[in-house]
Amino acid sequence: MTNIFAEIVNKRLPAEIVFENDHLLAIKDKYPQAPVHLLIMPKKSYPNLQSVPKEDLWIMGEIVACAQALAEEFNVAGDYRLLTNNGHDAGQTIFHLHFHLIGGKRLGPMA
Ligand code: 5GP
Repeated sequence: MTNIFAEIVNKRLPAEIVFENDHLLAIKDKYPQAPVHLLIMPKKSYPNLQSVPKEDLWIMGEIVACAQALAEEFNVAGDYRLLTNNGHDAGQTIFHLHFHLIGGKRLGPMA
């Protein structure tokens, strides 16, 4: 099933790309909740974290390494939040796995 992020990964929709390699794409969030709000996603389409099969879990290490590098690049390495929303009730609106990297201000408590 296609969605906005699959379209962005396939370059059929534009986005502000901040990192790309063979496996990952990272973009700026279009509606940022903080001065730094990036979205890190695998190019391969998984609806969400719970859908990633065990044999593909190595991608999580790549995502974390990407988050660390982007946190340095965007000067938030000391204080940031890395999260994914899994499912409607958790706040997921786009069903292509992505992690929010949020920082640049004091973040409120988690719900
Ligand atoms: P979710 O709610 O699924 O965890 O996160 C979806 C995120 O995608 C939201 O933070 C929202 O602001 C962002 N978003 C929605 N539409 C677009 C878009 O067209 N381009 C970009 N770059 N971000 C988007």
